Amino acid sequence: MSHTYDVINPATEKLVQTIEHLDLEGTDAVIAKAAKAFETWRHVAPGERAKMLRRFADVIADHKEELAQLEIANSGHTRGNALWEVDNVVNVLTYYSAAPERLFGRQIPVAGGIDVTFKEPLGVVAVIVPWNFPMPIAGWGFAPALAAGNTVVLKPAEYTPLTAMRIGELALLAGIPSGVFNVLPGKGSIVGARFVTHPAVRKVVFTGSTQVGKGIMAGCADQVKRVTLELGGKSSNIIFADADIEKAAAAAPGSFLDNAGQDCCARSRILIQKSAFDKFMEHFESAIKKFRVEDPSLATAEMGPLISRKQYDVVQTFLDEPVAFTGSAPSGPGYWMAPTVLLPKNTQARSWREEVFGPVVSVMTFEDEADAISMANDSEYGLSGSIWTRDIGRALRVSRGVETGNLSVNSHSSVRYWTPFGGFKQSGLGRELGPDALDSFTEVKNVFISND
Ligand code: NAD
Repeated sequence: MSHTYDVINPATEKLVQTIEHLDLEGTDAVIAKAAKAFETWRHVAPGERAKMLRRFADVIADHKEELAQLEIANSGHTRGNALWEVDNVVNVLTYYSAAPERLFGRQIPVAGGIDVTFKEPLGVVAVIVPWNFPMPIAGWGFAPALAAGNTVVLKPAEYTPLTAMRIGELALLAGIPSGVFNVLPGKGSIVGARFVTHPAVRKVVFTGSTQVGKGIMAGCADQVKRVTLELGGKSSNIIFADADIEKAAAAAPGSFLDNAGQDCCARSRILIQKSAFDKFMEHFESAIKKFRVEDPSLATAEMGPLISRKQYDVVQTFLDEPVAFTGSAPSGPGYWMAPTVLLPKNTQARSWREEVFGPVVSVMTFEDEADAISMANDSEYGLSGSIWTRDIGRALRVSRGVETGNLSVNSHSSVRYWTPFGGFKQSGLGRELGPDALDSFTEVKNVFISND
């Protein structure tokens, strides 16, 4: 039996829309449809598939304002972020629309014939999306999957289904054949879990918490199902005394407050070299005080609310550590929280070890380069991070020393759709985006053809 679900605006706590959740039977029916569509989609000529994906990207671009408005209302994302997120889906689709004609195999020298390899699509690919970046994370999965000739079943997070559902409709409007790209709103324990157990689903692309990701990996083992995991993070912003401290301090708020800190790449640990601590904190405090937390639909908003009451309550549990200073936030309805800077007493403090997923950062000092690297690596996660220094040798040594998948030097950028993204250690398995992501949506087939 299907159920209804109330989607709530986190900035106002008002109802946005009531939607239907799929049940197990409904999920199986859509997976069967996707499996059937695979038989024709895989044989669509490469140039034709490429053209369809470009048309899909164009139709999304034509609906940019509508999709951004939906995301602002559903997720509380700032207008600036929501517009960027629509662009990101368009860019990722356009980037991978160049792939169908370029899925090259190899010709390998052998005696007595020829040996060639093919990159074969997998079949039905499932994409399970979290609530923090509903559009981009969906696109990072479905765009390369479709380009490689797979069909897709996509489950948005319970809190944030609206943009994915609309993109599902836009796919049909763009001429993507029915059954090729399917959006299934529903519960993780029903729809998501069925993706793991259904034999027609040949791969699961999961982004979400490390805890659920481990369960998915274990479940996939039963059918040796392919799996890509993008999980949690506890990333460091390492600032050396030789850096431009004013610049590093001005940039620090954005590195953990984007999306109200609900960002797997949030630099929620600041490691500042001891001799620069006072100067950094002075400039950091004025940057935090200026950070605009307000109605996310305003063009000036830099941060909106948290996604839910539940998330708000979880984040509050980190606040029993010494507070250095806070920023401001609106009062009244909505899950608002002021940016908060903590000074944990030692590296065992919860805020130093656990992913907060809220507008909270912890600051500690270090002595030297070796100290900074070992403090940054003292985590089960390894997703992202930043290094601020003017010394290029140090930038290189520390970049190579920090165990994490995505680093930036004198910058906080993490994700470009044409470069690889993913985690070390318990932050994930496999890489998304960039030129190599297609390899995880195809199998290599080797064929020998005899001269005889
Ligand atoms: P979550 O793990 O609770 O849920 C993620 C998705 O999995 C949702 O769609 C949910 O419905 C589904 N799900 C839940 N239980 C399931 C099950 N048993 N089987 C199949 N699917 C199931 O995570 P969340 O709270 O939505 O997202 C926050 C987490 O995501 C954070 O830990 C964050 O770090 C992580 N994240 C990681 C990245 C990355 O790229 N590494 C990006 C964004 C978010």
